[in-house]
Amino acid sequence: MSRFWNSRTRELSPYIPGEQPQNRAYIKLNTNENPYPPSPRVTEAIARAAGGCGERLRLYPDPACRELREAVAERWDVKPEQVFAGNGSDEILAFAFAAFFETGSVAAGVADGVASRHNAAALFPDITYSFYPVYARLWGVPYECPRLQDDFSIDHTGFLTPCGGVVFPNPNAPTGMAMPREHVLAIARYHAERNAVVIVDEAYVDFACCASGADAALPLSVIDSINDHSNLLVVRTFSKSASLAGLRAGFAVGSEELVEGLCRIRDSFNSYPVDRLALAGAAAAVRDGAYYEETTRKIIATRERTAAALVEKGYTALPSRANFLFVRHPALTGAEFFTALREAGILVRHFNMGSGDSRSASRIKDFVRVSIGTDADMDAFLAVCAQEVV
Ligand code: PMP
Repeated sequence: MSRFWNSRTRELSPYIPGEQPQNRAYIKLNTNENPYPPSPRVTEAIARAAGGCGERLRLYPDPACRELREAVAERWDVKPEQVFAGNGSDEILAFAFAAFFETGSVAAGVADGVASRHNAAALFPDITYSFYPVYARLWGVPYECPRLQDDFSIDHTGFLTPCGGVVFPNPNAPTGMAMPREHVLAIARYHAERNAVVIVDEAYVDFACCASGADAALPLSVIDSINDHSNLLVVRTFSKSASLAGLRAGFAVGSEELVEGLCRIRDSFNSYPVDRLALAGAAAAVRDGAYYEETTRKIIATRERTAAALVEKGYTALPSRANFLFVRHPALTGAEFFTALREAGILVRHFNMGSGDSRSASRIKDFVRVSIGTDADMDAFLAVCAQEVV
């Protein structure tokens, strides 16, 4: 606490990101980064964007982010006006909470029945991306957290209730489990009639292919459905499947009115959140789908093999359609397993908080989240897991 902080700053409980160690070479499986480099076209585009001696860096970037929005629009067959670009998807999510979810004082001040979306909290699952409650508190958005089912899947019917808006990742984090597309669209349809916005955070959707299982080949993304649902906003990142966590770029696709809402928040905050290098690099990544299909395919194969090996050793691994596994050791607590791996030079992520109450937190305290690395990384991880079981 500092005497210089205002009451808002004093009351914040900021998100704590995964560790980025500077002093020891760990096998880093803690922040869902991609183990493979980005497409060579990305680095070429970044060099071009800087100019020979970096002379283009003198100039501000395009505030409208046209090149990136046009690349996204072409790839997903939407209009550039339906695309918003941001400094990582975290920024877009923060803007979306500010733009579309009502704040507490307004929510309390609107009489019942005047506008149903104004008298209810935003909804997100009790176990999910831990930045959502942070944004809600930052902007004063009241929220409620429907409970995951006993198998850790999202019960979509818990989201079919009047509210101030809905947000969830699909696949969910940190479980990695996916909600079927029909359920996502059922949520969007239900809230369309009530003018509430449904935000689907598809940070991990490119990894949703599964090596086996009935839904293996089905696409999970609902990006192709935004023209049927004017209240549906799909948020994507370049940090995971595009191997560009260090660049900071993301985008959202939705109706023009949703994109305009995001622009109003951005332009009340920072006119140039996406820098010149990120705009060029991210646009080049969108255009090199073939390269990324290959790296994504490798990660999915490594995930499936790692999950099978863990289950064989008596571990629990939730059925993941993301680039990470949520894993429980057969005997150690989550904290003990985390520490054993760390001492062996492997960094993973341990969460002990749910978005809602302490019962949610206690359901995941014995799990750790393990990002999928290269085959060699995962062999090293599995070797430690084998020792830890003996
Ligand atoms: N959504 C989810 C579910 C995530 O796990 C992350 C990564 N921490 C993000 C969004 C944010 O990604 P970025 O800001 O790097 O685009």
